[in-house]
Amino acid sequence: MAFALAAPAASTAIAEQYSAGSETLIVIVTDYAGTPRCAVQQMRSTMDHLLSSTGIRMEWVWRSPKEAGVRRPTDQAMAGIPQVLINIVADKPSYFAKNHSPLGLMVMGSNHTAIHVTEIQKLAEQLRLELGQLMAHVAVHEIGHWLLGRDHATFGIMLKDWGGQDFRMMLRHRVPFSAAQARRIHEELQNRRARLKESMETSGLVAAKE
Ligand SMILES: [Zn+2]
Repeated sequence: MAFALAAPAASTAIAEQYSAGSETLIVIVTDYAGTPRCAVQQMRSTMDHLLSSTGIRMEWVWRSPKEAGVRRPTDQAMAGIPQVLINIVADKPSYFAKNHSPLGLMVMGSNHTAIHVTEIQKLAEQLRLELGQLMAHVAVHEIGHWLLGRDHATFGIMLKDWGGQDFRMMLRHRVPFSAAQARRIHEELQNRRARLKESMETSGLVAAKE
């Protein structure tokens, strides 16, 4: 199947390509769905694995639903580093049509993503896959949209519609992004970090360097 495309080798190649420097991404997770702890932990370790092979270092921040949106003293230390929010919710928002049940969504123009646990759970049971692993792939797909835009790819994690076969291949080979996507992700993170720095300097949050 075309999808196989020597995936394990590709993942090593990407890791080597970016070993010279990695970009940091802050991931702020809020679980509104009361997801089992083991599934959330598995989501985290799978995402760490998927994104580290793309040369991205994740900093994890866990916020309870009560803390969401509340400013905390540690926020200052995180300023200047790109941040993405992953909201784990039970169901899709009510504005989606009844027969359209996406596994997750990215709010374009923001850094908010949501993953829909009830749908993911159904699919996990159907395919006999681990919930946390599927959650991780959905979350990484949405992070992909945040950094790469709306478009979908013809293979891999940025496919529009995953079939059971795609999932099994993805989970076995753990191919997060293609080398070209990984390069674009790095550039995006670098650019966004530069823009954040610039706006902090303009607003006087940090002293401009000479
Ligand atoms: Zn998508």
